[in-house]
Amino acid sequence: MRGQKTQIEFHEVNWSALGKLWYYLLEFRGRIVLAVLCLIAAKVASVGMPFILKHIVDDLNAASASDMAPYLLMPLGLLLAYGVVRFANVIFGELRDTLFGRVTERAMRRIGLKVFEHLHSLDLEFHLNRRTGGLSRDIERGTNGISFLLRFMVFNIVPTFVEIGLVVVLLWVNYSGLYALIVLLSVLVYVAFSVFATEWRTRFVREVNSAESRSSTRSVDSLLNYETVKYFTNEAYESRHYDQELELWESARRKNRLTLFALNGGQALIIAMAMTAAMVLAAFDVANKAMSIGDFVLINAFMMQIFMPLNFLGFVYREMKGAMANIESMFALLDQQPRVIESPDVAELRVSAGHIRFENVAFGYSTERGILHSVSFDVPPLSKVAIVGASGAGKSTLFKLLFRFYDPDEGRVLVDGQDIRGVTLQSLRRAIGVVPQDTVLFNTSLFENIRYGRVNASDEDVQEAICMAHLDDFIKQLPKGADTLVGERGLKLSGGEKQRVAIARAILKRPPIMVFDEATSSLDSRSEQSILNAIREISANHTSLVIAHRLSTIVDADTIIVLEQGRVVEEGSHRVLLAQGGRYAQMWAVQQQDRSQQDALGGNLSPHTVSY
Ligand code: ATP
Repeated sequence: MRGQKTQIEFHEVNWSALGKLWYYLLEFRGRIVLAVLCLIAAKVASVGMPFILKHIVDDLNAASASDMAPYLLMPLGLLLAYGVVRFANVIFGELRDTLFGRVTERAMRRIGLKVFEHLHSLDLEFHLNRRTGGLSRDIERGTNGISFLLRFMVFNIVPTFVEIGLVVVLLWVNYSGLYALIVLLSVLVYVAFSVFATEWRTRFVREVNSAESRSSTRSVDSLLNYETVKYFTNEAYESRHYDQELELWESARRKNRLTLFALNGGQALIIAMAMTAAMVLAAFDVANKAMSIGDFVLINAFMMQIFMPLNFLGFVYREMKGAMANIESMFALLDQQPRVIESPDVAELRVSAGHIRFENVAFGYSTERGILHSVSFDVPPLSKVAIVGASGAGKSTLFKLLFRFYDPDEGRVLVDGQDIRGVTLQSLRRAIGVVPQDTVLFNTSLFENIRYGRVNASDEDVQEAICMAHLDDFIKQLPKGADTLVGERGLKLSGGEKQRVAIARAILKRPPIMVFDEATSSLDSRSEQSILNAIREISANHTSLVIAHRLSTIVDADTIIVLEQGRVVEEGSHRVLLAQGGRYAQMWAVQQQDRSQQDALGGNLSPHTVSY
């Protein structure tokens, strides 16, 4: 596909995604500062708790040894303080999450919108190659990854390490260095093991992700092709293929789960060993009277306090690697550059008369196969020019170049003397109305689909367009009228009805240039005539380019261009070309013959039965 990479691949995880994220967080600086303050308050409370506990235990211990009235000896103040500090620890944590939640959500919204806009800015080639199911999964996982990364990286991993540092220092200062050493060593071993094991597991996590994407793409693709599947009664074939993908997914999940077991088991072992070592040491110190029972409780509380978030850290690190990979795939989408680029210094297209000119245009979708070869022609202002030729000759491609879905490899396309590469895409596309070969509709009402031609059009204008496109009779037959929902991609409408919707949209847009790409190909002769009249009416004040299979629809064109294998082989009016007795005359004769045969059979001429 001409060097364009459309499949999102997993890269080696790097941390640059975090750098890119910061940009999106800066919107709420004040909130971030407040959240960090809450975080500090929660950590101070959590480090203070074991000390209060130690004093409570020691006071109670002393009380049980003395014979004073028990209510006098209750360390009431300390007990209350313990409750307050415990509450403060939780509430500051909650406050932190609440404050930061808004920052995360805003970042997710901004990035989601940016990706969406970026996808719309990518060229047609990307969208023809994309896998809708996989793409939407990548985006969903990417935005969820952001939320995870921010919540856990910023507010769990970093603070946990700060807390561990604090505890190590406190243990060192207040007790023997051995305790600090046990904590430090076990944390180091734990982190090293977690990182190593998680790195080893990343391959399996990616396998699961890619298997999920593939199976989802497969099912979406199959369901989108629902009708085709039925035409060929290929349900079993589709199920088999889907099940093959599911089988890969299942096996990837199994490997993933087993490696997760190894990781969790190893982590639990390290924690258990460290806890036991610290407790044994503390028990000896208590037995030797080097420590009080309160100290024993304090050390136990600190160990629990450290390893609880550490246990969490293993999970967070694992998930973060996944989140990072997902965010990267999403940012990789943002890095995809469209091939059709708008230069920064371009002007708006100024359309005065609507003069189109193709100048020595050569083009191929891939470098291996040229589609158009040195094509030159003029569409004078307000004229109607038709392009005819065999299927695959490159007719629709000409329109795609005019609309700048692609840029020519050689030559240029001019509108009123301006190279279309030198004007903004928006202004160019605003100036061109298109009635495409296949009209895809949004899954809303018929009325709203038509209004899409000019989203701010009044109801009256839409109604007028409906009449001009001869849709009113059809709409009258519908129980819900113009409010009828058209189904996904407009599948509930016939081909001819969809074409009329497309015509109504183009009427509503009323641009100076109109392109009809086989606009009447799905219509029967009677409807065709009425649509042709409508087209004639609306193209009276426009420059129009008509791509046609059925020559009968373009006999009135000012100029007919005959395209053969990407080359202009004849050019002139219907009469002139017939008189020349060349390619066009041949095509005309074949179609006339087919038409009379069809008429004899009492049917219509289908464009698809014609072979040139
Ligand atoms: P038809 O009358 O059947 O619509 P056409 O003359 O309009 O045919 P085009 O749609 O311009 O033909 O296609 C010209 C050639 O380019 C065809 O052989 C087609 O297979 C090829 N083609 C069209 N679009 C692409 C694409 N996106 N990538 C690669 N090749 C393409």
